[in-house]
Amino acid sequence: MSRISNERASTAHPDLRSWLNELSAAGRLAVARENVSLNDELAAISKNLEYDRAVFFPKPDGHAIAVAANLFADRSWVADSLGVLSADLLTRFQEAVRRPLPWVEVQNGAAQEIVHDEVDLLRLLPVPKHNEHDSGPYITAALLIARNPATGVQNVSIHRCQISGPDRIGVLLLPRHTHHYFRLAEEAGQALEIALVIGVHPACILASQAIAALDEDEMNIAGALLGAPVEMVKCKTNRVRVPAHAEIVIEGRILPKVREPEGPFGEFPQYYGPRADREVIQVDAVTHRRHAIFHTIVGGGAEHLVLGEIPREATLLEHLQRSFPSVRDVRLTRGGVCRYHLVVKIDKRSDGEAKNVIMGAFGGHYDVKQVTVVDLDVDIDNPHEIEWAIATRFQADRDLVIVAGAQGSKLDPSSQEGVSAKMGLDATKPVDAEPMTFKRIHVRGAEHVDITHVLEKDSSAAFARVIAGLC
Ligand code: MN
Repeated sequence: MSRISNERASTAHPDLRSWLNELSAAGRLAVARENVSLNDELAAISKNLEYDRAVFFPKPDGHAIAVAANLFADRSWVADSLGVLSADLLTRFQEAVRRPLPWVEVQNGAAQEIVHDEVDLLRLLPVPKHNEHDSGPYITAALLIARNPATGVQNVSIHRCQISGPDRIGVLLLPRHTHHYFRLAEEAGQALEIALVIGVHPACILASQAIAALDEDEMNIAGALLGAPVEMVKCKTNRVRVPAHAEIVIEGRILPKVREPEGPFGEFPQYYGPRADREVIQVDAVTHRRHAIFHTIVGGGAEHLVLGEIPREATLLEHLQRSFPSVRDVRLTRGGVCRYHLVVKIDKRSDGEAKNVIMGAFGGHYDVKQVTVVDLDVDIDNPHEIEWAIATRFQADRDLVIVAGAQGSKLDPSSQEGVSAKMGLDATKPVDAEPMTFKRIHVRGAEHVDITHVLEKDSSAAFARVIAGLC
């Protein structure tokens, strides 16, 4: 741990090391013994600690580069990484998307302290294999930065990256922005210049998950989240600009007219994404910091879920509030894999409103499969409270909305190739209900009791004394 704090002084720019340092100071970072195996064992240890602590693995399998995992255990850690209260997290993210701060180019970066143009990925980098039936080692936490071949505008996203050979990576491109840039290049018979950036400040990772417009560079959203422009440096072998503070950069090209088998890989719904022919990255160079740190995300683990959750919640909140001023907050629940099940809190003013909110939420993102609308007095961070609202304020014949045959998530195995039913539950009280009917019980003063003050210090001794006196 002292190793991280010593090296932190080398840069003022927020980076992975500054975040690990904060975690360590807060008692949230565990350090594993040296020589943990990259094959299963590293992921197994990370999985055990996923709701509790980040883990730092020095010399995994004897490798010179260390690995860090579990950078986020829940949304409060994400809030801490951005320096805001949990309650202000979504607002902060909404603001950054509305008012991005453009990055600036610098001439030198720590990310290029060491340059390898002879590349053997598994020899250079400690790439773990995570879930049992993954096809092999995967780079899971790399920002894929691509240049629009027509305009030079950059896009930032995260993709699962299978190590397919010493200088070859199989990559899954969903039909979003990187895929669009690649199609432009491929139609012109060219490769798409890219870089994979591993080990950056959490703000950069979160920004990459923003549901932004095409040609909106997510690194500018990262700048707004950090309150300072991200410093970027040009790659050694292509024109892509990468964060100068990154730990590791893999420079390469997505090859035109080449597809090779990729997968299976353990994904966020807690199932495996299937093997199929997918795009291929030809690697041209690897650069990294001295004593670099490799960030890995266990597929389907808490970190994977939370990273997708916050940017999606911010987007869904923005979408709903445009039409429904009564919407106060939203959560994508952990049980709903932080994608499929949405809870919406409203300040209900008229009956029927919750059903409109349900229909609006279905339109917010095709992944949303179930929407539960609750009143202001329900704590949406507590699954028991949400169930309680359904148990006591919902009647299936009256308050249930079902839509058949809509677009859903292809990774939901109960869908038919992504065609999915939608369900909405209105668990709000009627506006004109008798005040006592839905009055929550409450013990007066319960929230103000100073428990250490009113209890005996040694309860067993006190109990023995009282019992002896009774006899
Ligand atoms: Mn984009």
